[in-house]
Amino acid sequence: MENCIFCKIAAKQMDANRVYEDNKVVAFYDINPKTPVHILVVPKKHIDNVDEAKKEDEELLGHMILVAQQIARDKKISDKGYRLVFNVKKHAGQIVDHIHLHILGGKLLSSMA
Ligand code: 5GP
Ligand code: ZN
Repeated sequence: MENCIFCKIAAKQMDANRVYEDNKVVAFYDINPKTPVHILVVPKKHIDNVDEAKKEDEELLGHMILVAQQIARDKKISDKGYRLVFNVKKHAGQIVDHIHLHILGGKLLSSMA
């Protein structure tokens, strides 16, 4: 999608500190990390957010979670644990309207909301 920063990163039209790529997703470090390890898993297909996902996206969404699991292991945060977050629209603080899964770890996280 035009003017979408995550579509541009996925298409390599914009730089990012990448950690993983396959034919369906790309993962890269968040530019403004909230935790010592903060990585985003982003599908190459543009979907605005989880609320817009369709039945046909089921496999892709599951794939994103398993890619996050692998990255967490690679970054050595899986033993102590980590958080996976999808922000959905305004009340959750979604600022980039291209679905992305946050991997947050490397420290003890405060409880939710
Ligand atoms: P959201 O609040 O939409 O769930 O999270 C979007 C995340 O994308 C934020 O944590 C923000 O720091 C990150 N971000 C925004 N623009 C860029 C960018 O151009 N490059 C990278 N690597 N991260 C970005
Ligand atoms: Zn996009």
